[in-house]
Amino acid sequence: MKIVTVIGARPQFIKASMVSKAILHHDALSEVIVHTGQHFDANMSAIFFEQLCIPRPDYQLGIHGGTHGQMTGRMLIEIETVIQQEKPDCVLVYGDTNSTLAAALAASKLNVPIAHVEAGLRSFNMCMPEEVNRILTDQVSEVLFCPTQTALSNLKNEGFERRGATMLNVGDVMQDSAMFFAQHAIAPAGLAHQKDFILATLHRAENTDDPGRLSSIIDALNEAHHDIAPVVLPLHPRTAGMIELHGLKLDMHVINPVGYLQMVWLLQRSSLVVTDSGGVQKEAFFFAKPCVTVRDQTEWEELVTCGANVLAGAERETIVRMIRANLGNVVRDDAQLYGGGQACGKIAEYLANM
Ligand code: UDP
Repeated sequence: MKIVTVIGARPQFIKASMVSKAILHHDALSEVIVHTGQHFDANMSAIFFEQLCIPRPDYQLGIHGGTHGQMTGRMLIEIETVIQQEKPDCVLVYGDTNSTLAAALAASKLNVPIAHVEAGLRSFNMCMPEEVNRILTDQVSEVLFCPTQTALSNLKNEGFERRGATMLNVGDVMQDSAMFFAQHAIAPAGLAHQKDFILATLHRAENTDDPGRLSSIIDALNEAHHDIAPVVLPLHPRTAGMIELHGLKLDMHVINPVGYLQMVWLLQRSSLVVTDSGGVQKEAFFFAKPCVTVRDQTEWEELVTCGANVLAGAERETIVRMIRANLGNVVRDDAQLYGGGQACGKIAEYLANM
């Protein structure tokens, strides 16, 4: 069973790291890795291949920048060529980026089965580029590996059963990564003695591309840093660009994006997480930290239901109030909510028997 895996963005490296290990150890499977180039800075790409021992990509497409349409279109052309050359039995895609959609479109037009890891997630907000990417990818996928029961229910509600697609709740591959790498955490440079801090990440287009939301969230983080607890912000390059463009002032502990092992250290040592990231919302839960999500919806609604996560939107006062209210909250990591770290083995096993 030959698999072509297409990845290109930071969260996909983290998700693929454990699945690729499971594929490597399965006699019936072989994998060809394509890196689209969507994320290309060393601290957004290469560091993850090194730290997480992801096999070196067989293809580096080097595609980044431009509009969503330009990027997706260029990827579609290049990935089609790779699939024609490699003739895989299956194309494996992750999540909801332009790389995901481009690979899914290329494979579907060549009638190659697609397996989608993280299928069925919905924010029900079609203004988000991620929502468009994931819905379209699900539509053309033959195997839908759902991370949660909610994701599986979403697909059922959309009639996927009638279409004959295979839908499986295998659990969340990010829990496999978090559990595996928890023992290997590394303190980021200069932070080894930092404790009782708030870990913040911010990069979603809905926040970075809306100057009102961006400045209000930054104001909230600045205020929290002064009045509540030190805020550590590993700053995403897109967010850094927008902050510079709008002349916003960051008055907190800003660091460059860190590797996954440093990120795990920050998660383990933090008191609370503020984020708009999908992955970081769950990781806060895996490491039993309360999370304040600076978005209006979340795809991980079971975290809100169980009280581990609150949706704060982008209003300064609401964010600050929710940080105060949730700091010190005890979060119980119910390992079964996300499958308990068994997802990658299940995915490899299913692929081997396809
Ligand atoms: N992450 C990281 N270094 C950082 C910030 C985030 O390794 O400086 C990791 C984080 O732990 C999570 C993933 O990147 O595993 C989340 O990616 P991102 O927030 O870019 O995307 P999303 O999850 O929102 O799709």
